[in-house]
Amino acid sequence: MTKRPRLVIFGRQGAGKGTQCALLIERYGAVHISTGDILRAAVAEGTEFGRKADEFMSAGNLVPDDVIIGIVNDRLAKTDVQQHGFLLDGFPRTEPQARALVETLGSSGIDLAVNIEVPLATVRERIAGRNRADDNPEAVDRRLQDYEDKTTPAVRFFGTIGKLVEIDGSGSEDEVFARLTGVIDTHL
Ligand code: AMP
Repeated sequence: MTKRPRLVIFGRQGAGKGTQCALLIERYGAVHISTGDILRAAVAEGTEFGRKADEFMSAGNLVPDDVIIGIVNDRLAKTDVQQHGFLLDGFPRTEPQARALVETLGSSGIDLAVNIEVPLATVRERIAGRNRADDNPEAVDRRLQDYEDKTTPAVRFFGTIGKLVEIDGSGSEDEVFARLTGVIDTHL
């Protein structure tokens, strides 16, 4: 197994991506790059950039591609990522972001993209049962719709370059984690 896994994790809101990413980081020791976390940190700091990002985020809209691509490219260039590999969480969210990533790293710079597939009805139930500030119904609907319209093409793009594996995200956290590590270990 390579010491520097370079992974992209896809999953619509409520697919359990956050939990699974935390478990994967623990197991593989890669650097967790969550664009949502990076943006929320900027919002919390109250920078000019954070205030702009907050306007997009609280409305349930995506931050513009050029902005987020710049943030991710800067992060990928840091030495910890070079040394330990990465797990991209929440990026790419659009096909232009996916193409930009592959342009930056080359397709050999990514081991695998995994899509955690959970039916829409199930994620709606899961989201209804949690309590996050940005989980108001309009924002949730917009994000789920964005996932279908914008992120699905990004997922498919990894299929076209032979880097995509779909896994079943139903069942317990342990079951999903076992499926994930199964496919990742096979591909590393
Ligand atoms: P997340 O925690 O990944 O759900 O991200 C929270 C919010 O940050 C999203 O609803 C978007 O507004 C914004 N965001 C995070 N990642 C991206 C991205 N790759 N492209 C555009 N907007 C993003």
